[in-house]
Amino acid sequence: PEKTSKPKNYRVILKSRPGANETPKEENFSVVCCPYPDDELEEETVLVKSLYISVDPAMRCRMNEDTGVHYIHPWNLGQCVEGFGGVGKVEKSNSKRFQEGDIVTMGLNWMWQTYFVSEAAALEKVDRTVVGDHVSLVLSCFGLTGLTALLGIWVKGHIKPSCNQTVVVSGAAGATGSLAGQIAKIEGCKQVVGICGSDEKCHFLLKELSFDVSVNYKTESVEERLKKTCPDGIDVYFDNVGGELSDTVIKQMAENSHIILCGQISQYNQDVPYPPPISPEITKILQERKITRERFLVLNYPEMYEEALKQLVEWLRSGKLKVKETVEHGLENTPRAFISMMNGGNIGKQLVCVSVP
Ligand code: NDP
Repeated sequence: PEKTSKPKNYRVILKSRPGANETPKEENFSVVCCPYPDDELEEETVLVKSLYISVDPAMRCRMNEDTGVHYIHPWNLGQCVEGFGGVGKVEKSNSKRFQEGDIVTMGLNWMWQTYFVSEAAALEKVDRTVVGDHVSLVLSCFGLTGLTALLGIWVKGHIKPSCNQTVVVSGAAGATGSLAGQIAKIEGCKQVVGICGSDEKCHFLLKELSFDVSVNYKTESVEERLKKTCPDGIDVYFDNVGGELSDTVIKQMAENSHIILCGQISQYNQDVPYPPPISPEITKILQERKITRERFLVLNYPEMYEEALKQLVEWLRSGKLKVKETVEHGLENTPRAFISMMNGGNIGKQLVCVSVP
């Protein structure tokens, strides 16, 4: 009888935890062979092949024994790591909702594995009329990343075109920041200032996106640059990083201004609760200048996703919004891509291409 060889299957597992206040390393992960799921599929399940995997800062918290937040759980040692999102292709289906060849996605809990079986109910079909062959757009724009940037601004930004506002974005060349800065401009801000960690990123913000000013926080004085470029103070701060950098920005914020407290990546290796505590000096500034600083979590606004996605699609189609991706190839390089992103190796959204669609 003819022998058909089964596809090889691999997964990424968590081998060890970095430990309190430690930087995660590639060695904390391991890539192992695992069985190809070729048993009969149970009803309402689907066999999926990973095409693209998203690596996200929040996964750093899942490496700890306690994530410090209610909406994500720690990864277990030795088990397949699951990230925030991915895009895949249906290899086999036992659900009327999906057919072989469909491109599918899942907002949360995508396994870092080449082939896996998923409940059909957890998957969503990707609308090819929107993304065409560029299926990773679902992760770099039309998913949590784009929703975070847009809804952060809509819900907490208080942007009014008549007010000639100046907005500052930290983590500005990253997935969320690069979209947030562009959206702030589209929504009517007068000036958009991006803070990021390399000259290449600064150049990208000015030349490829519509940022007015870019600051390399690793080589320039953020304080001096902000004083010069925002003499009337900062009206909106889209905060992706927290820590000292954000303290410097907050000290130059105007009265009645707004902080979009999106993320605090500079503190994710510290064993502190989320959001990390702020100093008495910064607390006093927030109170005296009546600056709003409410925590923003994209998962709290599902009722706004449809409208937001429609808006993102329209802006992308009209060329108003540009999306940048940094792509690593091969499932085995997912840990490297994650560590690289945590260390600023990405421009735009960091993705892993596991297989070509
Ligand atoms: P990014 O694509 O922005 O990648 C992370 C970037 O953070 C790196 O490229 C690096 O850029 C920067 N960074 C890393 N360490 C530091 C540091 N110590 N100080 C300053 N910058 C640093 O990731 P995402 O767009 O996925 O996430 C951005 C933020 O948004 C994160 O804080 C994340 O947790 C948050 N987030 C929040 C959500 C919500 O619902 N509130 C949902 C999704 C994400 P550089 O070279 O500039 O240092």
